[in-house]
Amino acid sequence: MSRKVIVIGAGLAGIEAAYQAAKLGIDVDLYEMRPKKQTEAHTTPYAGELVCSNSLGSIEETSASGLLKKELEMLDSYFLKFAYKHRVPAGSSLSVDRVTLAQDISNDIQSIKGVNFINEEVTEIPAADDDQIVIIATGPLTSGDFAQALTKVTMRKNLFFFDATSPIIHADSIDMSKVFKASRYDKGEADFINLPLDEALYQEFVKALIEAETVEVKDFEQNLFFESCLPIEEIARRGEKSLAFGPLKPVGLENPSTGVIPHAVVQLRQDDLQNHFYQMVGFQTRLKWGEQKRIFQMLPGLEHAEFERFGRMHRNSYINAPLIINKFYQSKIRDNLFFAGQISGVEGYVESIASGLSAGIYAARKLLGLPLCNFPNETAIGSLVNYISQADWKDFRPTKFTFGLLPELPKGDHYRHFRKKKFKKEMKAKIALEALDKWLKKAAT
Ligand SMILES: Cc1cc2nc3c(=O)[nH]c(=O)nc-3n(C[C@H](O)[C@H](O)[C@H](O)COP(=O)(O)OP(=O)(O)OC[C@H]3O[C@@H](n4cnc5c(N)ncnc54)[C@H](O)[C@@H]3O)c2cc1C
Repeated sequence: MSRKVIVIGAGLAGIEAAYQAAKLGIDVDLYEMRPKKQTEAHTTPYAGELVCSNSLGSIEETSASGLLKKELEMLDSYFLKFAYKHRVPAGSSLSVDRVTLAQDISNDIQSIKGVNFINEEVTEIPAADDDQIVIIATGPLTSGDFAQALTKVTMRKNLFFFDATSPIIHADSIDMSKVFKASRYDKGEADFINLPLDEALYQEFVKALIEAETVEVKDFEQNLFFESCLPIEEIARRGEKSLAFGPLKPVGLENPSTGVIPHAVVQLRQDDLQNHFYQMVGFQTRLKWGEQKRIFQMLPGLEHAEFERFGRMHRNSYINAPLIINKFYQSKIRDNLFFAGQISGVEGYVESIASGLSAGIYAARKLLGLPLCNFPNETAIGSLVNYISQADWKDFRPTKFTFGLLPELPKGDHYRHFRKKKFKKEMKAKIALEALDKWLKKAAT
């Protein structure tokens, strides 16, 4: 049998894993079921589609997402290169045109030497041996039959829960005379459209959200949202001020026509390169569609808004990582089986890319007979898998990278520094990038 990696799922993680393994000279069979069989959230026929927000987060190295992206760039991330190619203006965050990105990467991955793209649903975990490794990267919307097959190796039923997507609005239906364009603290270009709310309108809006009709959720789906992707009405329910301190926070957004910072601000982010659509930032929701139209049209500038897509609810599946995988994203009971992406227990676009990159490199190194050489805990990419593979399995939830996952700094000057928090992040980022640089040199030998 020839040496081969079988990657199941050509999403963010699967594409990255396939590229990294092929780059190390290993043949790859990359399976993708769409468009033959669609998921509830993907809307295009292309591989590598971002299902919800078009933002991959900040690019500032002192932000968690920015540090992880910087490391991925150093590691020659394939997905990130395409993300930069399809970037749309969004201040200091990396936002993309989701359709052109998916179309381009979907074509390109199929042309890479050694990658054999197979448009089929996989319903059983393929057998593998010393010459073949399987990487499972079927994502949060893993097909039902395959999820069933997975329980054979996870030794327990998959855990399922739901999160939600934000509405998208036609740009030409926004009344620009009632809104202002700005980025928070004037960072970058004035890329966001800001809808200013005074206190009376804010309270009316919060009340409407709380009282609105939502889509029925089955008993076992209750209260199972991502903390970082909570439906807007759930946040509203947590207290009158929670939206004004959360997704509607006005800080750093002075209204140029009044010279004052509004009581609350709803932000809209450009969603496509042609500037035809805007996405409501942080407005994931399970409100019924008619209710979304009624309530969101209460907002200044959106009185006549046309919705390209309403917010929706979605299934999400992931393994109990601390029980199932080690720090190489490798099954603890089958060493020729790896997991990557959201299903492996990481959460988020950039984290999914990072886990795909790791699994692709580790799988290829294993087939080449090289030491797997794990990413150091001081790095964002290493600390993430270090955490998910050792977290408390009884309360495990998909995890994003945060600075808190990195080792504490030794006691020193930074404790007395007057901007302690920022300074600590700068130091941790510096240590991370130096540690990754050393890893790159070691892995090359
Ligand atoms: C509705 C929704 C919204 C989300 N929004 C965000 C967000 O805004 N920001 C963020 O950072 N993260 C978000 N996430 C979380 C996560 O970052 C994304 O889902 C991300 O795409 C995960 O990458 P992945 O590679 O693991 O999975 P995917 O990108 O979903 O890729 C998995 C691929 O596997 C294919 N597949 C599934 N089963 C099979 C099978 N049996 N055989 C063959 N192919 C199969 C699928 O068709 C898909 O193309 C969201 C998740 C969901 C479900």
